[in-house]
Amino acid sequence: MRAVKVGGSMLKSAKDYLKYAELAVELDAKVVIVSAMKGITDQLLRATEKRDWSIMREVLTRLEEASAELNNSAKEWLEKGEKLFAAYLDDPTPQRLDELLAIGERVSAALMGEAFKIVGVNAVALDGGSAGIITDNNFGNAKPLLSKSVANIRSNVVPYLRDGSLVVVAGFTGTTFDGRTTTMGRGSSDLTATILARALDVDRLYLVTDTEYLMTGDPGTVLDPRPLKYVGLPEADVMAELSVKRFHPLTFKPIIGSKCRVVIGSQPPRGTVVTDELPPPELKIVTFQKGEVTFVGHGARNHAKTLAEELDLPLVEVKRFHLSFRAPYESNSILRRAHELLLKFYN
Ligand code: ASP
Ligand code: MG
Repeated sequence: MRAVKVGGSMLKSAKDYLKYAELAVELDAKVVIVSAMKGITDQLLRATEKRDWSIMREVLTRLEEASAELNNSAKEWLEKGEKLFAAYLDDPTPQRLDELLAIGERVSAALMGEAFKIVGVNAVALDGGSAGIITDNNFGNAKPLLSKSVANIRSNVVPYLRDGSLVVVAGFTGTTFDGRTTTMGRGSSDLTATILARALDVDRLYLVTDTEYLMTGDPGTVLDPRPLKYVGLPEADVMAELSVKRFHPLTFKPIIGSKCRVVIGSQPPRGTVVTDELPPPELKIVTFQKGEVTFVGHGARNHAKTLAEELDLPLVEVKRFHLSFRAPYESNSILRRAHELLLKFYN
């Protein structure tokens, strides 16, 4: 089975929902996970931090516009959103914040569900909790309980699939055992997707995002970054742990040991393929994190010595899939040099 997760950066208006519904059909996906529309989570957070109704109204207006174009399919959640914001201002608890933040994804799932109906596909829209994702009660950064979630997802989602319905799931969201809404942290819609993939024996999961491929370095900083055609799952896992491309640190954990292949990119079926082998080259990316220049790739150990000599920076750590050097100051030029060294593996 195939699944598609559509990132928030791809969802700017109602027509994007129709576009990605069509794409999911072309890719033969039976499960589709969505993030909130672009910028909505940030805006909701800003509205709560500033306790500012005008920001909240902007959010609601944007969502209402999209909903209006898709048969008012998110109306119910939008009315709730307004009440939840008032409730949060009245008593700003982490639990209430999660209820409010979840609106972004719940609206998005409702809109995607409607988009499928419009393109002629029978679909049901669920939030993470009703799909079966159970988390601890660490609101704002809740940890999914994997085996419990897997069992729940099988009993909640499989019946819809058997009936021939496509299932749309709101990313980012889950529920505690006692039914309180949680969110799993920034960027965790991808995690929703990998948990579903694990539970439903998905063999191909497309993570649709705003770049065609994962790159060897940040295009805004390094020169001549190269697209990565293949990345090993342990390498992708380390990239996520390091928050490369703002991946949630747990993103790839649920699919370790499964047969799921993830494809990351804006033009599926093309994109970076995450495989369970360790494909060449030996170093995949270089990134700058918390004062450290970090190379990720299965050749980290083999090349540590040479890289240390060439960079002449103090070595911080060498692990099996990454190694880091302390940068004396935050400098793009160090990162560029490091990337030049990495590019030697690409010729
Ligand atoms: N909407 C959430 C965020 O912006 C979750 C996600 O997009 O993955 O972090
Ligand atoms: Mg993301």
